[in-house]
Amino acid sequence: MLSTLATELTTANVMNVQLSEALKVLSRELKQQDEFEKEKSRYELFRTGQNDMVFKLRADAANGQPDHFICPVCLNRDKLVSFITGEGDYKRCQTSSQHTFTFGKTHYNRPTRGSGW
Ligand SMILES: [Zn+2]
Repeated sequence: MLSTLATELTTANVMNVQLSEALKVLSRELKQQDEFEKEKSRYELFRTGQNDMVFKLRADAANGQPDHFICPVCLNRDKLVSFITGEGDYKRCQTSSQHTFTFGKTHYNRPTRGSGW
């Protein structure tokens, strides 16, 4: 009788520990989610000159940070704020070189090949 009670108490104890562990994990995840949402709200959708969609830091939420763009793929898929870097017409995500964005189109004056010979 008593040993059964002891076992049950132990089980209850273990479950209690497991429960509070789960709660800890949950609240950590909630906090991360919250911070992510906060971070995400600092950005607005931006259409590049070549109709690529990226996220751009909002001027009113910059908090002294320099103007920059972040990758929409990483943001939406991985909940990750990943900067877009590069100079010129083509820029890419710092996390994945697969995420490339066209910002502009520079028209080079290609020498036109003579025809007729
Ligand atoms: Zn990316």
